[in-house]
Amino acid sequence: MISVIGAGPVGSTAAKYCSKRYDVVLFESQVVSERRVQCAGLVSRSGLEKMGIKVSSSSSKSFLQNGVRGARIFSPSGNLLEVDGGKNKAFVIDRKEFDNYLLNMAIDSGVEFINERVNGKNIDEIIKKSEKLIIATGTNYELHKILNLKIPNRFLIGAQYEMKINCDREFVELYFNVPEFFSWIIPVDDHARIGLCTRKNPIRYLNSFIKKLEGDGRISNKKILNRNFGIIPIYDPKIRTQYGKIAVVGDAASQVKASTGGGIVMGCTAAKFASEEDYEKKWRSEIGRELYLHLLIRRFLNRLSDKNLDGLFILLNENKEIIEKEGDMDIASKLFLALVKNPRFMAKFLFHTPGYIYDMF
Ligand SMILES: Cc1cc2nc3c(=O)[nH]c(=O)nc-3n(C[C@H](O)[C@H](O)[C@H](O)COP(=O)(O)OP(=O)(O)OC[C@H]3O[C@@H](n4cnc5c(N)ncnc54)[C@H](O)[C@@H]3O)c2cc1C
Repeated sequence: MISVIGAGPVGSTAAKYCSKRYDVVLFESQVVSERRVQCAGLVSRSGLEKMGIKVSSSSSKSFLQNGVRGARIFSPSGNLLEVDGGKNKAFVIDRKEFDNYLLNMAIDSGVEFINERVNGKNIDEIIKKSEKLIIATGTNYELHKILNLKIPNRFLIGAQYEMKINCDREFVELYFNVPEFFSWIIPVDDHARIGLCTRKNPIRYLNSFIKKLEGDGRISNKKILNRNFGIIPIYDPKIRTQYGKIAVVGDAASQVKASTGGGIVMGCTAAKFASEEDYEKKWRSEIGRELYLHLLIRRFLNRLSDKNLDGLFILLNENKEIIEKEGDMDIASKLFLALVKNPRFMAKFLFHTPGYIYDMF
């Protein structure tokens, strides 16, 4: 028997895959109908497809809230880079419904669901009974401490309000107006998710972002429909994720894109291998390079001054057609390779980029 702890998207996906070969028990501490999720809910079409989800199927209607075709990205001084990837390049999802959808898929494939918290009192018993234990507890690292597992060492803190705002339903907006990350406006239906991540004080930054949007006349109703806070682990390429019969997966193993904070697709991709003998080797060969590239992109962006970032936006704008053709939230390497192979882009990039690029590795 395999025990999976945590029925977020990653735990439910792991449980479903394991059920092909094993009896599986899936534990979840939250009452499913009331569960609190922390997410902007933006997932690429390619990511959903990779997870085996057909966006046109009737069952996916329960969680798909909106389809977006591109992004309007603003540099620190307000230069606009508009990327139009074509219809429904990415989807906005209702995370509570999405998590329940994946949980039901697991249950339908024969997984036994137990709505119970796993902690110091019952973990030894569960380990004894299990051939394998999969830890998919997200950013709750209580079991890591009990079992002496490595905890990711760097985090961002996210804050998000849902509010009515005047915006284009087909484009997400990203603003490079906070240190070491960005703010977002993600259109849902008659309202949007307005949020950001920072290393500290996210609420102060978010309130000042909202004030700015009010000043621009985009928010007339100040009512906050929903508030959302959470932490995002920054991918640690050296993190150990396999300890004998224990495998760690998803946010619990920092399998998150450091450039965007997105962890659903990466975690669920790793989850497919969680019951295998060489889980660590397999997930690294599938997504390790991609996660590392996102980390390098994040480190690079963090080192740029606002002026450098403005310059980078101008350069990217000049190469917009490459971004529109090759850009994909979940496969950064595709766009990266296309840009690197473009001599005009590379010549300008290397000319404008100071030496600190070389000490990122
Ligand atoms: C503000 C914010 C915005 C984000 N936006 C996006 C986005 O737009 N797109 C994207 O891809 N990602 C986004 N993310 C990241 C995304 O939410 C996570 O990567 C994703 O939820 C990871 O899934 P998981 O299953 O590993 O963990 P979780 O979704 O956290 O699930 C873990 C589950 O384990 C349960 N659990 C924990 N401990 C125990 C225990 N001891 N016993 C039993 N059950 C337990 C929890 O209740 C929970 O249900 C965002 C994160 C934040 C904070």
